[in-house]
Amino acid sequence: MEKKNIDWSNLGFGYVKTDYRFVSDFKDNAWDEGRMTQDETVVINECAGVLQYAQTVFEGMKAYTTQDGRIVTFRPDLNASRLADSARRLEMPVFPEDRFVEAVVNTVKANAAYVPPYGSGATLYIRPYMFGTNPVIGVKPADEYQFRIFTTPVGPYFKGGVKPLTIRISDFDRAAPHGTGHIKAGLNYAMSLHAIMDAHTQGYDENMYLDAATRTKVEETGGANFLFITKDGKVVTPKSDSILPSITRRSLMYVAKEYLGLEAEEREVYLDEVKDFAECGLCGTAAVISPVGKIVDHGKEICFPSGMDAMGPVTQKLYETLTGIQMGRLEAPEGWLKVIE
Ligand SMILES: *Cc1c(COP(=O)(O)O)cnc(C)c1O
Repeated sequence: MEKKNIDWSNLGFGYVKTDYRFVSDFKDNAWDEGRMTQDETVVINECAGVLQYAQTVFEGMKAYTTQDGRIVTFRPDLNASRLADSARRLEMPVFPEDRFVEAVVNTVKANAAYVPPYGSGATLYIRPYMFGTNPVIGVKPADEYQFRIFTTPVGPYFKGGVKPLTIRISDFDRAAPHGTGHIKAGLNYAMSLHAIMDAHTQGYDENMYLDAATRTKVEETGGANFLFITKDGKVVTPKSDSILPSITRRSLMYVAKEYLGLEAEEREVYLDEVKDFAECGLCGTAAVISPVGKIVDHGKEICFPSGMDAMGPVTQKLYETLTGIQMGRLEAPEGWLKVIE
């Protein structure tokens, strides 16, 4: 198959229109059979539920080329079940999980010319999402929905090398106890925009959010979970009902235990103990892991021994092992790679 003429290694993270997208409509209590379309526009009523009351949920995943030339996605079944959880929390109909995986496969297949070659560092980002389409003015769930999947090629995350991040403790909260922090909904991002713009203005890359109830425990950033490495080499990730369950983080915890023989634990992490960790990283689909070099708590700096020039040694090992599995250089656990072609 002929690849598109794209300068893969210089792509950024932005929208590039590809040839095909999947669309399925929910009406009269049922999803239709769905279709592949070349039309990138969405036309909905001015009073659509999504426009009035933000009834929308999404997923984010990647397709890429492995060392032996296969096009694969990583654990799409987990994105399917997470989207189902998100939909249920916002009173939206669930798009059947097996049909979700099938639609992802078909959308990537239709856009195979946009899947970057092995070694370019670039990937094809996949965005499944769902939203209420019919007019809703009294506050209630919509009756009609659209589920779509589009793809867009994105460049290597660490262009020009890894630069550890400087983050601040945020005075804004991301998620309330018993709220919607654990689902992947646009509403969680809308309210984080002011906090991230303010962080950037103050010279920080990201916000570390604390638990809203006590403001003593680490939650996550706006779009990535935390991993910490203790001085004796244990991997620790915060446990909380208001953290979005990152598939990357869950995979890294497995890799830590099963591939690297490290102790790995998910538990409450107090802000007070962060200064005692040896390494810190942010994990999510986009970067896999971004190292954090420094955390600033209202002028008080926590500088990790791994410094501002490179990933810490354990973070690096975790990164290399998971990307090795994803790229087919290391054997993947059963079911982790979904081969598209
Ligand atoms: C998507 C997301 C993550 C990362 O999840 P992955 O499945 O690893 O991509 C982390 N935090 C938030 C708030 C997210 O929306």
